Amino acid sequence: MLVMKFGGASVSAPESFQKIAKIIIERSLQDKKLVVVVSAMAGQTDELLELARKVHPNPPTREQDMLVSVGERISIALLAMALERQGKEAVSFTGSQSGIITCENHSDARIVEIRPKRLHEALNQEKVAIVAGFQGMSRKGEITTLGRGGSDTSAVALAVALGAERVEFYKDVPGIFDADPKKNEGAKLMPNLSYADALELAKKGAKVLHARCIELAEKNGVQLAVHSFNDPKLPGTVVGFGQIRNLNMSYEEPTCLPN
Ligand code: ASP
Ligand code: MG
Repeated sequence: MLVMKFGGASVSAPESFQKIAKIIIERSLQDKKLVVVVSAMAGQTDELLELARKVHPNPPTREQDMLVSVGERISIALLAMALERQGKEAVSFTGSQSGIITCENHSDARIVEIRPKRLHEALNQEKVAIVAGFQGMSRKGEITTLGRGGSDTSAVALAVALGAERVEFYKDVPGIFDADPKKNEGAKLMPNLSYADALELAKKGAKVLHARCIELAEKNGVQLAVHSFNDPKLPGTVVGFGQIRNLNMSYEEPTCLPN
């Protein structure tokens, strides 16, 4: 079982979906059970938020979540189509269809439980399960989103729920560096990092992995690998190398009280 996560930069254009479908198919030769989490296409979440603000300067957060969750929904459908075209069976699922239950705090919800029944069904039929990142559903059945950059957290939480030892993140950089490799030519790639070091880098502003997902991975002993979608064979960075998977199924602390 492997969880792969593709961010917005990896799906910046229609052709991108064929390219990442190839990476997924290659990976499926080793790992028969694949869950793939995808973000909205580059810039789309910002566009949807701007669109909302053209209609209402301070949109109700429930309706804003209904709107922005569409970005990831577009990506999952297009990725399933790209895989199908390359001969690999795949099914797309929204956050709620994947059983991702969150607290009720619209636009900044926390994952409190996952019931991945439909994902197991797809995986048992040897289909790639494609999941919309960044979104879930409250116990009242409302669509929620997890806060900007939340798809990384979706991917780690799914690994916890499914018992996957590792999440592979495919980014526009070949791993985690000691400085921003896009701005600093001398930046050094770090092949292995502890959770604490990765967290410190994330908190200092390295935009590679979201701090929340590193904390969730540490709690559950999930390894995080960072690769480049342009050159997926490069070794990249592993966070939590040698970590024993810790099956405590612990998710996030809710940001609002359950009722
Ligand atoms: N699409 C969302 C955002 O841009 C979530 C994510 O990409 O992780 O914040
Ligand atoms: Mg993003």
